[in-house]
Amino acid sequence: MSDAVKLACATCGQMNRVPLVKLAEGPKCGACGDPLADGKVIELDARAHDKTTRADEMPLLVDYWAPWCGPCRMMAPEFAKAAMSLKGRARLAKLNTEDHPEIASRARIQGIPALVLYAKGREIARLSGARPASEIVSFVQGRLGA
Ligand code: ZN
Repeated sequence: MSDAVKLACATCGQMNRVPLVKLAEGPKCGACGDPLADGKVIELDARAHDKTTRADEMPLLVDYWAPWCGPCRMMAPEFAKAAMSLKGRARLAKLNTEDHPEIASRARIQGIPALVLYAKGREIARLSGARPASEIVSFVQGRLGA
């Protein structure tokens, strides 16, 4: 296994090579200085969605949601907790399907909230419906063999 992972910056799109030993220290983007993996949920726009889901070498869990969806809003704090628990092992991000219906359609999202786990440029698992933080964490860990 490599001793570093490539991560796309969700702000500027720059690819960053992050040594694994630095992952837990909250690495920052070499181009714009924004945090790359600080345990906070990343807001994705269309460009950042495509870049991170295709190029990230670290597992990425995307929450496809919309502001009108009650269960999505209820899950948001749980998703944030899960992001903090998984810091250094996976990045958690969200995509607003109301703003980006074309992305939701391409990802074959049929109901929301839907969680899709990507690793090394491809989808490896998905989970639908609102979940507590503990279930989100064990879903990711189970798929990563951690
Ligand atoms: Zn950046």
